[in-house]
Amino acid sequence: MTKIVNHWIGGKTVEGASGTYGPVTDPATGAVTTKVAFASVEEVDAAVATAKDAFATWGQSSLAQRTSILFKFRALLDANRDAIAELITAEHGKVHSDALGEVARGLEIVDLACGINVQLKGELSTQVASRVDVAAIRQPLGVVAGITPFNFPAMVPMWMFPIAIATGNTFVLKPSEKDPSAAVKIAELLSEAGLPDGVFNVVHGDKVAVDRLLEHPDVKAVSFVGSTPIARYIHTTASANGKRVQALGGAKNHMLVLPDADLDAAADAAVSAAYGSAGERCMAISAVVAVGAIGDTLVEKIRERAEKIKIGPGNDPASEMGPLITKVHRDKVASYVENAAAEGCEVVLDGTGYTVEGFEDGHWIGISLLDKVPTSAKAYQDEIFGPVLCVLRAETYEEGVALINASPFGNGTAIFTRDGGAARRFQLEIEAGMVGVNVPIPVPVGYHSFGGWKDSLFGDHHIYGNDGTHFYTRGKVVTTRWPDPADAPAGVDLGFPR
Ligand code: NAD
Repeated sequence: MTKIVNHWIGGKTVEGASGTYGPVTDPATGAVTTKVAFASVEEVDAAVATAKDAFATWGQSSLAQRTSILFKFRALLDANRDAIAELITAEHGKVHSDALGEVARGLEIVDLACGINVQLKGELSTQVASRVDVAAIRQPLGVVAGITPFNFPAMVPMWMFPIAIATGNTFVLKPSEKDPSAAVKIAELLSEAGLPDGVFNVVHGDKVAVDRLLEHPDVKAVSFVGSTPIARYIHTTASANGKRVQALGGAKNHMLVLPDADLDAAADAAVSAAYGSAGERCMAISAVVAVGAIGDTLVEKIRERAEKIKIGPGNDPASEMGPLITKVHRDKVASYVENAAAEGCEVVLDGTGYTVEGFEDGHWIGISLLDKVPTSAKAYQDEIFGPVLCVLRAETYEEGVALINASPFGNGTAIFTRDGGAARRFQLEIEAGMVGVNVPIPVPVGYHSFGGWKDSLFGDHHIYGNDGTHFYTRGKVVTTRWPDPADAPAGVDLGFPR
């Protein structure tokens, strides 16, 4: 019997009423295992109204009340790591260890939210004028929305809601329709932790649900993570509707390898960062730029390692890489490899024919490695979001940096070198929001903020860390005068205070 995933509104499951459902497949078998309810405008309105009602009390609750619930949620999340990871693997396809990793990285933001009282301490300046004090405080916005992608169905929602609710907002999440179950499990755990009904809600769906959140007058802010075209659309539309928006988009992350680098370490890092999670990570390394004469040696070292990757179902402990999310996406990824030779690339490894015995209908693709990729090739220009690594060649450090900076994307980037001076220069000269020095996937820890530049992020705020607290609160400055009881009345003065 097909499982049905319903909405979560007001602390309980609410059956879909629109009559529209989307299919959720097990990427390893290709079978539709689940139907997910798609919300109508009215259903989104019901979730926002519930969140608005809940804000009336949650927004006034004490910091101690909010953080004690988050501490309980943290313990439940910790105890349910495996259960959440299993849901992720069943709908996303990534291997269990990778799914556990995403839960762990989400938990980091819950840790941060448990200590939100430190971040919300505010500022006070005393005696700025005679008997005048000035306090800067931050207050919640109200109902805020999160719209999240398929590739991290637990972690990316946790980049958002722990900080949003810790700072006193109420939340409506619209998770990816491709792997919706982890979000519902998280909602159940929040409820079990004692979160009041209506503070965290989940509506499933597609553009209909998203567009309603973008235009709803009671939604004060929108956090989005997904592809660049949709991020741009979300930013434009929600901004036009007067909302605060942070919209994180796609990426093409480069790894610059200088001639003095440890090439074995660089090859290990390139393979892990390019093919982990089948390349379906916004911080995946998808382009290696080899500087100087090391190109052939580096490509050979990458090939040797990449060929050994074990591909299979995510729930098989022997698998290191799982299938892609959908058949359509698998075919799109394959098309870049199929066209690569005609576009001037040297195809070192071609994974397009790969399949797994006994799982022939799964969304499989093997490892592909393209060398001497010209910047004009589609395989270089587009975010492929699959296990395809492009290697480009540059004569000098300067040529490599210019090549990376010419990319419209600016999410993450990395340099591999033993030269501290070159690494320092790279940090300052490179146009990307997250930089790794001998670290291929420089995802900031929870108490720093995550975000790219250029077409990888629209809006002013990066996500989580201090930027998260700022995004979900608005500032207020209170100027106070308490005259000393002995003071004579100041009298009327129509001049502007000097
Ligand atoms: P996507 O843009 O297709 O979907 C993201 C969300 O937007 C989903 O909830 C989806 O239902 C919704 N959506 C899709 N089309 C829409 C439309 N026309 N109108 C309104 N809403 C729409 O992204 P995806 O395929 O789920 O995720 C992969 C993408 O996300 C990749 O590009 C990846 O780089 C990016 N990503 C970025 C980051 C980051 O931090 N920058 C992190 C994870 C993923």
